[in-house]
Amino acid sequence: MKKMKEGMSKNIARKTPSISKVNTYKDFPLFSFIELNINEICNRKCPFCPRVNPEKYPNQNIHMSVGTAEKIAEQLVAIDFKGIVNISGTGEPLLTKYVPKIIEIFGSKGLHIEIVTNGDVLKRKKGTDLIKQMYSCGLSQLVVSMYDGPHQVEEFRNIFSSCQISDKYYSLRDRWYDESENYGLLYTNRAGNLKNDAKYSKNACYYTAYAMYVDYNGDVLLCCQDMYNRTVKFGNVHSENLIDIWHDKKLNEYRQLLIGGSRNLSPCNNCNANGRIFGKEHKVAWEELDDN
Ligand code: SF4
Ligand code: SF4
Repeated sequence: MKKMKEGMSKNIARKTPSISKVNTYKDFPLFSFIELNINEICNRKCPFCPRVNPEKYPNQNIHMSVGTAEKIAEQLVAIDFKGIVNISGTGEPLLTKYVPKIIEIFGSKGLHIEIVTNGDVLKRKKGTDLIKQMYSCGLSQLVVSMYDGPHQVEEFRNIFSSCQISDKYYSLRDRWYDESENYGLLYTNRAGNLKNDAKYSKNACYYTAYAMYVDYNGDVLLCCQDMYNRTVKFGNVHSENLIDIWHDKKLNEYRQLLIGGSRNLSPCNNCNANGRIFGKEHKVAWEELDDN
């Protein structure tokens, strides 16, 4: 595996304490990370992203509704969720015009809410207004993936500083590298969606032990790697509670196999993601539960 880039390792270090903490709900380990895909549109076509091929993965002007975001936030509050709500997904979140409203839905309830962006919208004329608005709506952290070059570090630092936002509240990730450096990320085949020969050990995977993934329409998916294919769905927040979906029979089956070291089920059998960057503590908690 190629050496991890600085921006990525810092961002992992920042998230680790929150994600590693295993809270329980009714004596069962609870997820500590929930990722939301709030739209299906992006202004870029990165070579490592399924969006590189618009015929296969076209832009669509589809966005998570305010009602769906409210449903998710209410369900998180009901289980006293203390982890990270992360808006990232398969599109560029800042292209959803009412993104401040979505932030407010989570931030006003005291939930930790963060957004991952390619940063392009922030450089536009009204970018600084948007930054100020998002933080005043309760944004906890803005993570900017910089794809164009090292000059962007100073560019974004200046933008945040002009908004009086301390560097505690944003992260800049260096992602301007080429294929020879894995584009500066943990390069994967997105659960079989892309062809690449990234070689991580294909054993256990902890995603289903510590994380949940909710699509724009409220569907709960297997993991962030399968977000583009959507091979497996476990339920929808409009018809079931997140906590019931977390204990869904099919999800439990995936979880047991994956933490036990088997990737036999689809799409895990075609996935080359590491799957063990986070979640070791949750894996142990699930195993201890099975032993009792
Ligand atoms: S900015 Fe993100 S969503 Fe857009 S093409 Fe690049 S990786 Fe894909
Ligand atoms: S093995 Fe791959 S597809 Fe399966 S849960 Fe892990 S990351 Fe997702």
